[in-house]
Amino acid sequence: MTTFALATFAVLLALAALRAPIFVWSAAVGVMGASWAVILGFGATTNALLAAAFLGLALALNLPALRRRLLSDPVLAVYRRILPDMSPTEKEAIDAGTVWWDADLFSGRPDWERLLATPAPRLTAEEQAFVDGPVEEACAMANDWEITHERYDLPPQLWQFLKEKGFFGMIIPKKYGGLGFSALAHSEVVTKLSSRCNALAVTVMVPNSLGPAELLLHYGTDEQKNHYLPRLAKGQEIPCFALTSPEAGSDAASIPDFGVVCKGNWQGKEVLGMRLTWDKRYITLGPVATLLGLAFRLYDPEHLLGGHEDLGITCALIPTATQGVNIGRRHLPLNGAFQNGPNWGKDVFVPLDWIIGGPEYAGRGWMMLMNSLAAGRSISLPASSAGGAKALARVTGAYARVRSQFHTPIGKLEGVEEALGRMAANAYMMEATRVMTAGAVDQGEKPSVISAIAKYHMTEGARACVNDAMDIHGGKGICLGPNNWVGRGYQVLPVGITVEGANILTRTLIIFGQGAIRCHPYVLREMRAAKEMQGEEASREFDDAFTAHIGHTLANGVRTLLHGLSRSMFATAPITAAPETRHYYRHITRLSAAFAFLADVSMLAMGGALKRKEKISGRLGDVLSMMYLASATLKRYEDQGRLKADLPLVRWSVRRALHSAQQAIDQVLSNFPVKALATLLRWIIFPLGMPFRPPLDSRNRECARIALEPGAARDRLTAGIYLPKGEADATGVLETALLATVACEPIEKKFREAVKSGALTPRSGADTAQLARDQGLITAEEYAQWQRKEALRKRVIMVDDFPQDFGRAEIVRKLLDDQPARAKAA
Ligand SMILES: Cc1cc2nc3c(=O)[nH]c(=O)nc-3n(C[C@H](O)[C@H](O)[C@H](O)COP(=O)(O)OP(=O)(O)OC[C@H]3O[C@@H](n4cnc5c(N)ncnc54)[C@H](O)[C@@H]3O)c2cc1C
Repeated sequence: MTTFALATFAVLLALAALRAPIFVWSAAVGVMGASWAVILGFGATTNALLAAAFLGLALALNLPALRRRLLSDPVLAVYRRILPDMSPTEKEAIDAGTVWWDADLFSGRPDWERLLATPAPRLTAEEQAFVDGPVEEACAMANDWEITHERYDLPPQLWQFLKEKGFFGMIIPKKYGGLGFSALAHSEVVTKLSSRCNALAVTVMVPNSLGPAELLLHYGTDEQKNHYLPRLAKGQEIPCFALTSPEAGSDAASIPDFGVVCKGNWQGKEVLGMRLTWDKRYITLGPVATLLGLAFRLYDPEHLLGGHEDLGITCALIPTATQGVNIGRRHLPLNGAFQNGPNWGKDVFVPLDWIIGGPEYAGRGWMMLMNSLAAGRSISLPASSAGGAKALARVTGAYARVRSQFHTPIGKLEGVEEALGRMAANAYMMEATRVMTAGAVDQGEKPSVISAIAKYHMTEGARACVNDAMDIHGGKGICLGPNNWVGRGYQVLPVGITVEGANILTRTLIIFGQGAIRCHPYVLREMRAAKEMQGEEASREFDDAFTAHIGHTLANGVRTLLHGLSRSMFATAPITAAPETRHYYRHITRLSAAFAFLADVSMLAMGGALKRKEKISGRLGDVLSMMYLASATLKRYEDQGRLKADLPLVRWSVRRALHSAQQAIDQVLSNFPVKALATLLRWIIFPLGMPFRPPLDSRNRECARIALEPGAARDRLTAGIYLPKGEADATGVLETALLATVACEPIEKKFREAVKSGALTPRSGADTAQLARDQGLITAEEYAQWQRKEALRKRVIMVDDFPQDFGRAEIVRKLLDDQPARAKAA
């Protein structure tokens, strides 16, 4: 009997795991039920009653019409009652964009072979030439200290250079005079620029991200495109996009800025137009913009357009020279020095055909914004964060080798090593995410959930990196000046955290909230059946999605348990993946099943309240995100040819992602509102306890070594950033000092050992190396080499000091001398 009970249990698990159709379930349950009746020896009456009950249930489940009437329709009725109504703006946000690898991770069965078969993103020769040429040149022209302390702006010649070389038209097709770059190229340009100067990167990012050009490309009329796109491409127009107002930040759909459709006089003629009133703030490039992309709510009280009174959010292009437009004042965003400021207008009359897309796009602004958000969000901030992280890993590794305390390079002290190793692995994972995400955009995706994941985790990754870098640099990172390569990055970092969906909101509301609807294989279908369909159509669609949903949840639950009991041994991994990383794929497959199951049970247990339970949904979002970041890391390892030297970075970051995902699940379970369900879930998800440990210290050491050691692995880790040539620049001196330090280590070892053995006695105030040379312990050439290294080391560790006025008087004189050049550039 025990054997048969076990066999019954195994068959049920197998049916669930394999998502057997209902008729197979019915047949199997019928056969097993009959066998149990024989084994247990029930009487004829009991057998007849049980058989009748079984047949009734089987018929109800197998006959769709009956199933709908008895099961799905009542569930649909309850679902309709509890499903919160969605505002049109929420619906447009949900519908926007596409899903990609996130849907695989949400399914519980990621198709790894498909991911690995995606070609590694590559630049064209022309794009590479641009990165190696004009981008390199723009970086060389940007002196971050001069920009952030003296000018609070890019120098006029750099503005001019950016315009002439087409930096503002990377996303504009060639037929309009733009560069027509791929998402990867666009991302590569921003990566390099941001490794040099944040203000430079932001200035280039904004015209290429969500704004006039992007909106015109998708929705503009031919006339608007033909007029504006060539001008934007060549920098003859400087665009900005103004959505945020003092009362509406994260809740941007509630902007109070408005327009009223009316007739008015325009260039001597009466035309149909809008009277606009707005008050915006934080608008990047606003103070220097010539073309203002403006979002406002449009009303038509006199029904001049024939439709509703409240038409909804609308986007228009307003030349800033238009009478009544107030622009030009500046905010000072953490010394970022990129142009940013408020703008406003009251009752400014403009023609209706200034609406992007013309009058028929009145009220469709939110849809336009939501649909255009994903591409830019996949590129700009991920690229600037990856550029920052790679640059920080490079300079911090170098500094930690050049700077010694306790007679040891600080990078070899375990505490510092821990932070440095973390930075290196972080930079690897961020770069992997940047490239994979930009690659998805180049495949035609507009990945709404993935872009939120990339935006949130890359800006947080950059924050972690800059915090580590600051700690490692100590006072050197704190005293600002031209010789500080970390401090400005530290200051300006929160800007990325705040813009394009502030991070707390992105993590706790968007990633899982949008993911659960968009990436889930059935939820959106169920919602549409409930809210957008009626009668027979709704009943059929809901029944189809709902029954499949039950099978999906059961399958993931059983697979989660089996993967837990077998420690992921039988979970899917791609046979084409490197053997040394295959177990990671298996673990992610296990996590994916667990996540899909947990997400379903959470939605079932909490329903619409889950949206408000941001602590829970934030953690569920973390699980999805960690799987995405780990997938990107594994893909990068494959795309780069499985370079063994990079394996510590892969291992550290994937293990950390697995561990973080596990901790997030643990916290969801610990805070789950239905305690009995939480216990059951924990038993299913972690039947043998929590399997993933944080990365090992030994692995962390290997990662730190990559940042400390000049060579191919370090160059690969930091590829794509700007490297100053020569010693004119502080980071150029640092690179040279690193090489000199490494070259001098054997020399230092000689006289250290001589001191230890007593062959050399250091004297206070005397140069030990000189004594070593005098005693013939090192050669004259070695001494000269050591002296040069010392000179470089001193330059590296020095910090800047200033006159009482921080040189302001001198700066003002210099800027006044610059007036003619500035006027020309403007
Ligand atoms: C330097 C800079 C440049 C910018 N550039 C532009 C630009 O060019 N154009 C433009 O239109 N806007 C721009 N912005 C505006 C930017 O997009 C907003 O700052 C952002 O949307 C957040 O709004 P807020 O600052 O008013 O913060 P708030 O909306 O007040 O948010 C404050 C905090 O509450 C959190 N929060 C809000 N709602 C929720 C929620 N439902 N759940 C959980 N947490 C929530 C946020 O995450 C944040 O942490 C810029 C801002 C800055 C600082």
